[in-house]
Amino acid sequence: MTEVITGGCRCGAVRYQLEAPPLFKHMCCCRDCQYFTGTDKMFIVGGMRSAFHLTSGSVRHYAVTADSGATIHRAFCPQCGSSLLIYPEVDQKHYMPGDDVVGVAAGSLDEPGAFQPDAVVFTSRAPSWATFPEGVEQHP
Ligand SMILES: [Zn+2]
Ligand SMILES: [Zn+2]
Repeated sequence: MTEVITGGCRCGAVRYQLEAPPLFKHMCCCRDCQYFTGTDKMFIVGGMRSAFHLTSGSVRHYAVTADSGATIHRAFCPQCGSSLLIYPEVDQKHYMPGDDVVGVAAGSLDEPGAFQPDAVVFTSRAPSWATFPEGVEQHP
């Protein structure tokens, strides 16, 4: 039986599902994640884009150039503004491994406590008051 991970936004307009176990569970402290979440970091549960489906509603998104130079889209509910998704732009000519993933904001999962983070990334960008979970790998 395939594990199905479900979630959506605060108002219920947008619903999604990820039809495979997560590939990664990262907390990201980059500046873009700070803007997206309004706090020090974003807990991102990532999976293959082919396993991800919106099951109702549609999202709005904006694109930003990440520190890596990649174009990253950040999607939210157009009605309630809940932060929902992050995914790299798929550039067919300059395809990179990882371009076919999508990350969901763990706070938008139906069970936000279902997963534990496996790494904290961009800790060097975190504000001075940030705290990190114990026993979890940290990458500057
Ligand atoms: Zn909504
Ligand atoms: Zn980030």
